[in-house]
Amino acid sequence: MEKSILQIPFKVIRNYQRYLRSQNWSKNSLSYFQDQKLIQLVKHANKNVPYYQNLFKKIKFDARTFRGRIDLPKIPILEKETVRKSVDKLLAKNATKYGIRWDSTSGSTGTPLHFVLDDQVQANKIAALLRSYCWAGYKFYTKTLSVQSYYFVKENFKYNPFFNVLRFDTNRLCKNSVHKLLVKLKSWQPDLIMGFPFDILMIAKIGIDFGLELPTPKMIITYGETLSCNQRTQLSKFYHSKVYDFYSMHENSAMISQCESGNLHLIEDFAYHEILDENDKHTSTGDLIGTNYYNYAMPLIRYRTLDKVELSNSASCKCGRNFRIVKEIFGKACDFIETPDGRILGSVMSHSIDQAKGIIASQCIQDKIDHIYTNLIIDKEFDSNSLKNLKIGLRKRIGNEMKIDINFVKNLKKRQSGKTPFIISKIGNKYQE
Ligand SMILES: [Zn+2]
Repeated sequence: MEKSILQIPFKVIRNYQRYLRSQNWSKNSLSYFQDQKLIQLVKHANKNVPYYQNLFKKIKFDARTFRGRIDLPKIPILEKETVRKSVDKLLAKNATKYGIRWDSTSGSTGTPLHFVLDDQVQANKIAALLRSYCWAGYKFYTKTLSVQSYYFVKENFKYNPFFNVLRFDTNRLCKNSVHKLLVKLKSWQPDLIMGFPFDILMIAKIGIDFGLELPTPKMIITYGETLSCNQRTQLSKFYHSKVYDFYSMHENSAMISQCESGNLHLIEDFAYHEILDENDKHTSTGDLIGTNYYNYAMPLIRYRTLDKVELSNSASCKCGRNFRIVKEIFGKACDFIETPDGRILGSVMSHSIDQAKGIIASQCIQDKIDHIYTNLIIDKEFDSNSLKNLKIGLRKRIGNEMKIDINFVKNLKKRQSGKTPFIISKIGNKYQE
């Protein structure tokens, strides 16, 4: 394991050089690359991955004749639920060769998922993200305020001189900590603020309530949650800054980044993206389906991300890159939890369930300032360990002051829109879209 981690930086550097070149490729070169990568991946899956061996046999799909993008629709969509149930079969028989690291996520959906990432996919993700940040103007040592859940034991924020970054722990986001942060930022003006849009907005709103001055960075980089048009306008107005949005995911099946000309691009040299309607036919507004080219330890071919996007009509961007343009990303928004000590917890709460096996779906509901209950839909893999891990996960985030009840249910509460939010606040902490 240690060896594989040490290898990543070299791979990142090598990959980064390649990403600098591939962003300038012509449409033809990009298409050729995509077809070649898909052919290699499908052949590998056919040779080494039990799930695909069984699937291809069942649907009479001959991987030897696979030609790339044109034949991709012959392979059925891979649903998150299938990954959850068949994760062992999705692991390549020769996975150790690629470096195995188990990862887990729940996105903001309330359904935990475990899967494997290998060295190549991780190195590619870092290189592709780094390139995206450079589009926004990031340079090494840019004076950065990073707003993330760091789980600091005592401090609200800490400075790291090597990266010139001030790290603010969003698990400690409350009026008091934001007040201290903004006082600090008066003398330490960041050039970049990066983090979840919800948290960066909350800092602004608390600051405005206090009548405190907000920093005016050159750029704000948001990731981790969907950035709505309204949020983008507010962030830009409050901080007098340009906002760059990035979409990526733990599974690495898709990536969308905003370029210096303001357009969101599908990162097509990192993954192959498809947009499908309810009948799984290609369309311009629909479900985002992604196939990462690099995760040979556990290939996820045509993985449904559970996010929706709308492609733009414009065929070209001023930046000159030939990556398709996305007009809008429609993700999931939820309410937020407020703890008795005044901390505000948004989608970070969804990670409470990451380590609990056997949860099909979950929902966290706050009905009093000191009480939440979690509704769970479970399967037979859920056991006492899952319950223990869930409780640890919840306590780690909300602390010890709140009472927690756990209910096992058959259905979760839906909104009128049909969406199933992960957090529901009955005490008025609505998260506006
Ligand atoms: Zn562009």
